[in-house]
Amino acid sequence: TSFGFKEVREDEKSRMVGDVFTSVASNYDVMNDLMSGGLHRLWKERLVSKLNPFPGMKHLDVAGGTGDVAFRILDSIHSVTQRDVKNCHDNNLLEETQIFVCDINPNMLRVGKKRAHDRGFGEDKSLIWVEGDAEQLKFEDASMDGYTIAFGIRNVTHIEKALVEAYRVLKPGGRFLCLELSHVEIPIFKDLYDYYSFAVIPTVGQLVAGDRESYQYLVESIRRFPKQEKFAAMIAEAGFQKVEYENLVGGVVAIHSGLKF
Ligand code: SAM
Repeated sequence: TSFGFKEVREDEKSRMVGDVFTSVASNYDVMNDLMSGGLHRLWKERLVSKLNPFPGMKHLDVAGGTGDVAFRILDSIHSVTQRDVKNCHDNNLLEETQIFVCDINPNMLRVGKKRAHDRGFGEDKSLIWVEGDAEQLKFEDASMDGYTIAFGIRNVTHIEKALVEAYRVLKPGGRFLCLELSHVEIPIFKDLYDYYSFAVIPTVGQLVAGDRESYQYLVESIRRFPKQEKFAAMIAEAGFQKVEYENLVGGVVAIHSGLKF
């Protein structure tokens, strides 16, 4: 392409993803806020509101990293139950809630567990941290009400495999939701965004995290990720119905969704 980055081989890709998140894990939160101008918080809120979490649900958040999405799901479930505290049926349901955070990188999980503790979720039995690969989930068929993956699928080596796995673990009626950096097609805004990604992000990565290469890699991986329509077709290919997507900030980010019938 005009930006001259080289294609990354598959084995190299897995290794690089590992390196990136090991180097990034500790200053991950700061970088997220810095690079998205805090917007990633709103995007995650949007993802969770689309999920419509409910007490008693079994949910799997893949590439869950430091727990950002899982915490929001739990907050949402708690706010649902607080509206009706006298309803002991709901309280029993609350105890049955299980939110699994699955991530391939133990460093991210470690940071996530610590954050859970700091946020008062330390004793919450609903949060379950699992080290694992999106391509080979350690969960049973038809065991989950929901599946989310936020800023994760772009890093998976075989996206198709991850989608098939998502479909497998969902119960019939279960919802797949994917939040990912996507493609901007709006003229001028696209040029600005390209400048931001290729010039600003690696520089900020160098200055703040002391790691230019990892952030360069992140930008390149956004480029290589399939466009909205193509990704929607891949989700349908994995078996999902009612596949749709919503662009946020003109496609900087997209939320794709699908249902398992
Ligand atoms: N979902 C979190 C968020 O939105 O803040 C973390 C996103 S972070 C950019 C990407 C995460 O994907 C990292 O924690 C990384 O370890 C994880 N990851 C990469 N490849 C994976 C795979 N094959 N299976 C599971 N997790 C993976």
